[in-house]
Amino acid sequence: MRLGFCTFLGHKYTEWHYSDEHTCVESKECMRCHHRKCREGVHIFGELSYEYEFNCKQTKTCIRCGTKTSRTLHTFGEWQIEEYKSFNKYRICTRCGLTEYL
Ligand SMILES: [Zn+2]
Ligand SMILES: [Zn+2]
Ligand SMILES: [Zn+2]
Repeated sequence: MRLGFCTFLGHKYTEWHYSDEHTCVESKECMRCHHRKCREGVHIFGELSYEYEFNCKQTKTCIRCGTKTSRTLHTFGEWQIEEYKSFNKYRICTRCGLTEYL
């Protein structure tokens, strides 16, 4: 292997592949100088599910690396009118009781 070869021709990388069974980091290596590049690969998330009964936070976990991602999804009922306060419209989440005003 000649030193500096890749400097002129560019690195000759292998295909992107997962560097470990339990990680979602992909890497590729130069076949000549073994220069290594890493990038975050695609997570394989399971189903979204609620974490707690009276809470609207949903989480899903990557089946490879265990990374968690979450979102909040409220289940609002029908819009209702608050007659005593200048007819504001509001609705209540049936899970966590959060009140949202229009
Ligand atoms: Zn190289
Ligand atoms: Zn992952
Ligand atoms: Zn809610």
